[in-house]
Amino acid sequence: MKYVDEYRDGALAKTLAGKIAREADPGRRYHLMEFCGGHTHAISRYGLADLLPRNVEMVHGPGCPVCVLPIGRIDNAIELARDRGVILCTYADTMRVPASKGLSLMKAKAAGADIRMVYSCADALKIARDNPSREVVFFAIGFETTTPPTALAILEAARQGLANFSVFCNHVLTPAAITHILESPEVRDLGLVPLDGFIGPAHVSTVIGSAPYDYFAEEYRKPVVIAGFEPLDVMQAILMLVRQLNEGRAEVENEFTRAVTPQGNEKAKALVADVFELRRSFEWRGLGEVPYSALAIKQRFAAFDAEARYGIVYRPVPDHKACECGAILRGVKKPADCKVFGIVCTPENPIGSCMVSSEGACAAHYTYGRYKVGSDPGKVGSDSTFGDRNPGR
Ligand code: SF4
Repeated sequence: MKYVDEYRDGALAKTLAGKIAREADPGRRYHLMEFCGGHTHAISRYGLADLLPRNVEMVHGPGCPVCVLPIGRIDNAIELARDRGVILCTYADTMRVPASKGLSLMKAKAAGADIRMVYSCADALKIARDNPSREVVFFAIGFETTTPPTALAILEAARQGLANFSVFCNHVLTPAAITHILESPEVRDLGLVPLDGFIGPAHVSTVIGSAPYDYFAEEYRKPVVIAGFEPLDVMQAILMLVRQLNEGRAEVENEFTRAVTPQGNEKAKALVADVFELRRSFEWRGLGEVPYSALAIKQRFAAFDAEARYGIVYRPVPDHKACECGAILRGVKKPADCKVFGIVCTPENPIGSCMVSSEGACAAHYTYGRYKVGSDPGKVGSDSTFGDRNPGR
């Protein structure tokens, strides 16, 4: 296939849905976690859950970088802009994530803090070059996909001798989070979250490759299929997982052969290894402290490390009492299980982080109408269609 709309072909999707329905064993249930918010978004946007037989259930995972950012880290960023007078640059989605005391980066900006939305950290570098008398901090978030550009920006700042530029690093790692989920009491001891296999993220895997997932297949006997974010990618990945489970296999398969290789992008990985090192522990929203799940800037580049430069102290802050984001990010609950979903908490007025980014499970369910009170949120509606349910987006 050559063009993106070919990956949204309704007739092909129905063919795949037919194969899944025929091959899924009616005597068993299939619980498949899509780790990444990009897949959650595609499943909601294209109504994929409606195409699946009732015994094939999708479980949302924690792979939304905005959703897993703990409140305390946003508080730290606000303090940098408000109390230390820096120009704080970050991606747009991060701006609306609720912080402590009813604040967010957007509200802090409205109150006068110099907080700027950027498309990339290269934009933040330019702002630093254009404002030599101001300190500029890039508030870096995201998984392995966004880490190499941050590494490049730090190397570039070092090369240019940009003394007024630093990075507040919050980059997190996919495999560590998957391990944490598989080791969680809900999955391992209590059986609250049955998990039979994973759909792995395509963009992350273009960087790290498919090899890091081998561990989950070998150690935990969970099949993994790395898949793209178009509806046919997701449907094909579900079919591949169903086949693996039927045949008793637990392997890493690659649906996204158009960009993912076993070893990934060696150049990008070398950049990351040059600039970053593993943190011993990092708090994720919903998952708590996860060992070796995030990156810190190496001592060699301490001059560009905002945590070192400003002596940032992290203070954990609990979520809003009504918010179920934590349970949703662990796959324990669905958005419609939250009492304030769609009532008090909406994309215009997010109470929790899962309602902010389009990749958040709550935002995806709300935007594409995957929630009808009293119904199974995964099975709402029967008009299986691959038309865009929200053409405005
Ligand atoms: S609906 Fe809002 S408050 Fe409830 S879990 Fe989702 S983000 Fe949190």
